[in-house]
Amino acid sequence: MVFAAGEPHRPESVDALRALVAGGGRVRVLGSGHSFNRIADPGADGVLLSLEALPAEIDVDTAARTVRVGGGVRYAALARRVHEHGLALPNMASLPHISVAGSVATGTHGSGVRNGSLASAVREVEIVTADGSTVVIGREDARFGGAVTSLGALGVVTALTLDLEPDYGVEQHLFTELPLDGLDFETVAGAAYSVSLFTDWGAPGFRQVWLKRRTDEPLAAFPWAAPATEALHPVPGMPAVNCTEQLGVPGPWHERLPHFRAEFTPSSGEELQSEYLLPRSAADGILYAIDGIRKTVARVLQICEVRTVAADDQWLSPAYGRDTVAVHFTWIADTPAVLPAVREVEAALEPFSPRPHWGKVFEIPAPALRARYPRIEEFAALVRELDPAGKFTNAFVRDVLGT
Ligand SMILES: Cc1cc2nc3c(=O)[nH]c(=O)nc-3n(C[C@H](O)[C@H](O)[C@H](O)COP(=O)(O)OP(=O)(O)OC[C@H]3O[C@@H](n4cnc5c(N)ncnc54)[C@H](O)[C@@H]3O)c2cc1C
Repeated sequence: MVFAAGEPHRPESVDALRALVAGGGRVRVLGSGHSFNRIADPGADGVLLSLEALPAEIDVDTAARTVRVGGGVRYAALARRVHEHGLALPNMASLPHISVAGSVATGTHGSGVRNGSLASAVREVEIVTADGSTVVIGREDARFGGAVTSLGALGVVTALTLDLEPDYGVEQHLFTELPLDGLDFETVAGAAYSVSLFTDWGAPGFRQVWLKRRTDEPLAAFPWAAPATEALHPVPGMPAVNCTEQLGVPGPWHERLPHFRAEFTPSSGEELQSEYLLPRSAADGILYAIDGIRKTVARVLQICEVRTVAADDQWLSPAYGRDTVAVHFTWIADTPAVLPAVREVEAALEPFSPRPHWGKVFEIPAPALRARYPRIEEFAALVRELDPAGKFTNAFVRDVLGT
């Protein structure tokens, strides 16, 4: 995504960052730039900021089982350091290349019926606000529900403190050709710590099932599909060497929870993405609704992934207040060809009240979205409190908030 604001400013200290922020003009932070829409765009006359030149702080407190991580740090570096201390994050997204601050700002998630979005691990957030001062908001603060999945609208997140747990191992067990007819979604989605179903929608059902089993939990039987006999990439035609190790070989959590290895291009590299988060209790109807338009979808699709996310309490989280099934589409990199399919998917999912992933392509009008976020007025009030002049607001945020 290229923004008219041009190359980002890269302050080398928090003091230089404060001066840039306080200096006037509209500001947006670019994380690792993995979003597929204009959420990070400050507009032509705005300032784009990158935190990549700030010291990459990762301070693990082994006694408290927490880590304080700087605003520009990516999950790959964080996970390695946490693992060195014999500790672990509860979950990761499909790729470790993304920044922690940028990921939790959009509600980024992995999978697992008991696993919340990545923001669920955050216990405290430090934000440089419009006048250059720092506000610290922890779980005990009444504003916390708006402070983490904040779309970057409150200020510059310079540090986050995350909960950790004892180190654990994970094995990936892959299966092929899971039929849609007769699918017991709850049982399949709960068959391991993290479960992903992949399909190209070229035919009904799922081409691959990825079970990520924690080695400290039992290995459940999976009689509904055939075990894979070789390592696989979810996108047809892409090399499996880009993916984390499979075939049941145990390894540390951070080398198995992401699908893609940190040192390779994740997914296909040339793509657009959309994703919708919906009530998990309606999963069967949702999957049949997509199956009903699968020919339209398949024409512009590289791969579709179905995951689960446990309900959380971030006001703007797409998993807010409801146990969720997340239906993700990796499209071909051709916007005019893809948008009609996006609209058709949204129409098919409309009866299930879809909330789109904030970092991906969607067309659902903002008024309909607002109605799906019962705490959105509290979020808008928090934006007014911390950023009264709208320094961190861009066209994307204005549209979402209706301001
Ligand atoms: C190949 C690929 C695979 C993906 N897989 C997944 C997946 O498994 N699960 C999933 O949920 N999503 C996934 N995504 C989407 C991705 O995780 C999100 O778009 C995420 O927000 C990207 O993080 P980022 O650091 O690149 O943020 P950016 O895209 O750079 O920014 C996102 C938002 O965060 C704000 N922001 C960033 N840093 C800061 C900061 N320090 N302070 C204040 N605001 C900030 C930005 O202004 C912007 O509003 C995937 C994307 C790609 C390209």
